[in-house]
Amino acid sequence: MRIAIISDIHANLEALTVCLSLIKSLDVDRLVCLGDIVGYGPDPDACVVAVRETADVVLLGNHDHAAVNIEATRNFNPLAKEAVLWTRERLSSESLAFLQKRPLSHEEQDILFVHSTPYRPEEWHYIFSWNEAIPQFEYFEQEVCFIGHSHLPQIYHNDVSKPLTLKLDAGMRYIINVGSVGQPRDGDPRLSFGVFDTDTHEYLPIRAEYDVEATANKVLAGGLPQFLAERLLKGR
Ligand code: ZN
Repeated sequence: MRIAIISDIHANLEALTVCLSLIKSLDVDRLVCLGDIVGYGPDPDACVVAVRETADVVLLGNHDHAAVNIEATRNFNPLAKEAVLWTRERLSSESLAFLQKRPLSHEEQDILFVHSTPYRPEEWHYIFSWNEAIPQFEYFEQEVCFIGHSHLPQIYHNDVSKPLTLKLDAGMRYIINVGSVGQPRDGDPRLSFGVFDTDTHEYLPIRAEYDVEATANKVLAGGLPQFLAERLLKGR
């Protein structure tokens, strides 16, 4: 079975549209979204509708959570908070209800899916480094855990003495960050996601271009902070 995994769309409809059409062409069996459909970007409701219609599993991200529980923005930086308040006013009651009901994690076929970390996903910790990734292997039992949240695509595995291959080694376990569809932060503005084949154990990381300028212009036209447009262009 081939599972496409997307995360951190952040209301970027141009990136999401390209991503979903690529997924269609890649002949996948299932689509899992790791959350943060909304926040930062200009098209929150359209993105919720599109993900809802196409994904088999949709998890809760911290920005989705904040959009439906405004007190959760207390840990947000001022920009993110401003974007959440902007977003909330633009979500239909159906979309708010949909986000409200999202689970924090999902398990199938020896795979764990979470937005943030296997350890207490509701606390929204980040994995930015190997030092932060290694202890997380204690908090899940599956062969592989797919994560998002940092917007940085990265593959961590639990035995650093072995070289990394994209074909997952039997007997080794992994944490794979699929990157961000709608707001990449690794210096590459192209959208990022991945496809995992549960039969061959191969992981395929995908980057693709989309009309970044169109989204950036919408961010500005919508009255969102200018920085949010600039970071899309830079991919940072
Ligand atoms: Zn995010």
